[in-house]
Formats: sequence, C-alpha cells, structure tokens
Amino acid sequence: MTPPRALTIAGSDSGGGAGLQADLRTFFACGLHGMTAVTAVTVQNSVGVSGYHVVPPEVVAAQVRAVVTDIGAQAVKTGMLATAGTIAAVAGALDEVDAGPLVVDPVAASMHGDPLLHEEALASYRSALFPRATLVTPNLDEVRLLTGVAVTSRAGQREAARVLHDLGPRWVLVKGGHLRDDPECLDLLYDGTDFHEFTGPRFATEHTHGGGDTLAAAITSALALGRSVPEAVAFGKGFITESVRAAYPLGRGTGPVSPLW
Ligand code: PLP
Repeated sequence: MTPPRALTIAGSDSGGGAGLQADLRTFFACGLHGMTAVTAVTVQNSVGVSGYHVVPPEVVAAQVRAVVTDIGAQAVKTGMLATAGTIAAVAGALDEVDAGPLVVDPVAASMHGDPLLHEEALASYRSALFPRATLVTPNLDEVRLLTGVAVTSRAGQREAARVLHDLGPRWVLVKGGHLRDDPECLDLLYDGTDFHEFTGPRFATEHTHGGGDTLAAAITSALALGRSVPEAVAFGKGFITESVRAAYPLGRGTGPVSPLW
C-alpha cells in the first residue's frame, strides 16, 4: 500500500547528519515516503560547513512541482533555503500546488556558527514564507535574527512568540534548547490565543547535529498523518528527545541525533 508522503525543501549535508538526510531518515522512521527538493549542496563534515553551492531557484521550484503534481504530498517542510531568490521561488511553487500543511524551519546557521542563509533573505522569510506557514519552528538564534528579540528566559520566549505570530504564521514554536541555564528544554507553541508548553530533559551531550531538522521533520510527519498541530508538536517533542538520547559520536567533531531508537 502507498504510504503517506512528505516533501522536504532543504539543503544536503554531505556528512549525512542534518539537512535533507536527517529529514528523510525521520520521514522513513515515521512510516512515510519522503521526497526532496534540493536547495543547496553543503560541503560538510562533523567539524563544520566549509562551503555550499546554491541550486538555481527555478530548479528548486521545478522539483516541488514535479513531485507534488505526480506523487502528491500530505505535508511539506522547508529547511536551508539559503537565498531570497529561493524563498520567493518556493513560495511561488507552493502557491501553485496543494502540498498540505507547511512547516517552516528558518535555518540560518549550523550549530558551529557557519552561516547557511544570506542576510537579505531574512526579510523574504518574513514577507513571503511566514504568512503561508502552518507552523514556524525557530531556535533562539533565529528568533533574534528574524525579530531582534534576544530571549534569555521563558518569559522572553512568550514575548518572541507574540512578535513572530504577528508576522502571519498560523502557529509558532519557539524552541528553548539554546536557553542553557534552563534545566529543561521548553518548546513553546502559540496560535495567537493559547500557549502550549512542551518540556523535555536537557542532555549533557554535544552530539545534537541535525536536531532542529529532525524535530521539524517529525512534526511534519505527524501532520501528514492527519494530526492537529498541538498533537504533532507533542509527537515531535517525544521523537527528538529520544533521538538526542540515541545520538552517537561521529568523526572528529559533533555527531548526529539518531531517529532510530
Ligand atoms: N546543514 C544543513 C544542510 C542544514 O539544513 C542544517 C540545519 O538545518 C545544518 C547543516 C545545521 O545543523 P546543526 O545546526 O544541527 O549543525
């Protein structure tokens, strides 16, 4: 029987830990057929990203159209989009097809601080993609870049969620993993009315490469399977918690979270 399908519009991580490789692993682990529209090819290993090549925006849009019009998708997520031109092309392509709920993970940099997004693309995220999103899933670095709000507490997460929601997405998930003083990891979900809190343990591991991608892909999987956004985020939180617990060392740097646990 044909399984539900999910599409990731994202960059390739040659080290296999993050990006579309993490998304595909997660889709498969959740029982979905995964598809990819490749936006950029990063040159990357466990130590960091040493460069990337951007796929022409029209080729990204063509990949989206090709798979959705034939194979169909019940949910879609975006990861590394790299440039304003790609963001505009993705927004245009998604307007032409019905690919289900849209999860936007506004990837801006690697965990080592290597930039994965052109600075002028931040404005395109705000104007072209956020208003189309079912859910946006920024970490606190991305919150600061997108809104100027520097979050240092759980109260700050609420403030940031309000500012982000005003940019037009249906739901916002402000991830608290970078609040290192917080003994737990609180991810805060907001729909403009109600706050939902999802807490998990904080692990003493440096092997969290691909963690953001894996969380967003797990949420996307649950949406493709017909769950509501709060149900999908609850599933994703459990999924990423176990994936970090199962993370493994790799190479000379940081290893990836593992969706096989
Ligand atoms: N490379 C690609 C292609 C990504 O999409 C991402 C994150 O989304 C990363 C690298 C960085 O992953 P991390 O921040 O977990 O190192």
